[in-house]
Amino acid sequence: MKTIKKPFILDVETKQLPSILKPLVTEEYRVNQIIEWLYLKKASSFEQFTNIPKDIRGNLESSFVLRTFSNVKKDESILDGTIRYTFKTYDSHYIYAVYLPSDNKKTVCISTQIGCPISCKFCLSGKTKFFRNLSRGEILEQIMHIENDIGGRISGVLFMGMGEPMLNYQNVTSVINTIISKKEMNIGKRHITVSSMGIIPAIKNLANEMHGVRFALSLHATDDKQRKKIIPNNFDSKISDLLQACKYYLKKTNSKLTIEYVLLKDFNDTSSDAHRLARLLKTADLIQPSVQVNLIPYNETKNKEYKNTTQIALLTFKKILKLNGITVNIREAKGLDIGAACGQLGTNNLS
Ligand code: SF4
Repeated sequence: MKTIKKPFILDVETKQLPSILKPLVTEEYRVNQIIEWLYLKKASSFEQFTNIPKDIRGNLESSFVLRTFSNVKKDESILDGTIRYTFKTYDSHYIYAVYLPSDNKKTVCISTQIGCPISCKFCLSGKTKFFRNLSRGEILEQIMHIENDIGGRISGVLFMGMGEPMLNYQNVTSVINTIISKKEMNIGKRHITVSSMGIIPAIKNLANEMHGVRFALSLHATDDKQRKKIIPNNFDSKISDLLQACKYYLKKTNSKLTIEYVLLKDFNDTSSDAHRLARLLKTADLIQPSVQVNLIPYNETKNKEYKNTTQIALLTFKKILKLNGITVNIREAKGLDIGAACGQLGTNNLS
């Protein structure tokens, strides 16, 4: 297996940087300058660290790697300006990140694993063989690369790309700390969303550690048997237990919760499903202003097992939830023409 020859500097948390840099840099202000170049200015080469003496820059160059991705491929949607980035990792795997521009926000959706072991039936990432977790640096590098490419600052981060973030907990929370740190990337925690199909101990840890980011539960079903069919590796977590964990998350963090629900024709899109979902949320005491249900029309891939819901079923489902006092939103698909929409990120899309 290929390895990186030198340490990847973005893998190192800033609190460890002073000791890692010690042979090269001793003054505290120099370490702070390096942190600024790495995380605020997002320099892509040590050569750009212009307020650092040339000999130190040379030593940094010979001691560390600053970027690891190669062969970056970029596909831009003509429909909505969404950009899908394909990155080749040092060990020759492909991962994806998506840039989602809107009038007042510049959001990125990033990957946390190579492939995904959860294997959701409606998602191409789940059909992509799982290889490994991405390192802290590799997760951050996706954001850095996109900022460098678009030439502007990112204002929001979604952990919704390839992989289950809660199965890469240490690296994901380390990245969250860097994103929200004023000294590093300085993005408000309310502009960060971690999406997970739900691993109960990890949801509770995330709540207890008080990162305060938004949490999105990929629910997609209204009974446990139905959920197991489309999310086979769901750790046998019961829906009722998952919703209790979400309630704990809200109580601890005072943040917001999204329930994600992909609508699959004649599978989970009936009026009975909508009523059952409303009942589940009511029982869990989750019908409240800080909870929103996102209905996601299924973005069809080469997998023909499931079909997208119909417009009438979608609107009926929404109406039933609304009548039950639930805040509900239909998620607009972005980047459909470039395979960048929800559930479309996977190696099968490589051309
Ligand atoms: S939906 Fe999320 S958890 Fe499920 S296979 Fe896709 S990336 Fe993995």
